[in-house]
Amino acid sequence: MGTSHLYTTTTTVVIGAAGGCLVIDPAVTPDDIGVLAAELRERGLRVVAGFSTHPHWDHVLWSAELGTAPRYATTANVAAVRKHRADGIRIADDEAPGHDPDLFGRLTPLPDTATTLPWDGPAVRVLEHQAHAPGHAALHIPSEHVLLTADTCSDIEIPLLDPNASDAVADYRHALRLFAAVSDVRHVIPGHGSVGDGAELHRRIAADHEYLDHLAAGGGDTDPRLTEEWLVKSHQAHLEYLTSTAGGR
Ligand SMILES: [Zn+2]
Repeated sequence: MGTSHLYTTTTTVVIGAAGGCLVIDPAVTPDDIGVLAAELRERGLRVVAGFSTHPHWDHVLWSAELGTAPRYATTANVAAVRKHRADGIRIADDEAPGHDPDLFGRLTPLPDTATTLPWDGPAVRVLEHQAHAPGHAALHIPSEHVLLTADTCSDIEIPLLDPNASDAVADYRHALRLFAAVSDVRHVIPGHGSVGDGAELHRRIAADHEYLDHLAAGGGDTDPRLTEEWLVKSHQAHLEYLTSTAGGR
């Protein structure tokens, strides 16, 4: 796993059979992805599959250096990327310039009935939910006791709600319950933030529920993760969202 300086973004590589590997959310600058590609080459690894956890710009990036393997995503993710493609490319250009726009969000939808990734390597379970973004998926690798929570359960970010959802809080709580039900997690890897152990996963699930409890009561502003201006703004947007959707739930 690697972590970029930009937004403490994580990229995860899972090693499969015969020198193949799966690359999850390669990010975030072209340089970061170049370093990743070089490291894979050095280790004699060939990318045989990619995965995008959700349709936000920093999770649908790629580089020609990573090759032409299918980059899987949920159907809802693929649809959302398609819909907001131009915006996504523009934001990527502002935040991490130099990506090839042709490769932006070129995703392959998983069959709707798929519960694992179609690749030659350890079983990777797809836990689809709607927290934070449509078609969001956490990945569980039972043999490694790893849970990748993507943009939920972070030690450095409050729960970030999907402003377009009709009940973003319920969606978020549903995802937290999905994660709580996964047994024997020993490593939690968020999309932004640091890796933790199983106890840390449960601490983060509790912290996220607690934030949502406070939010429903019009609070939440003392969450220790509100350390940056953009997070404080997101928190204020959450309070406005709850006021605009029938006064909170
Ligand atoms: Zn996101």
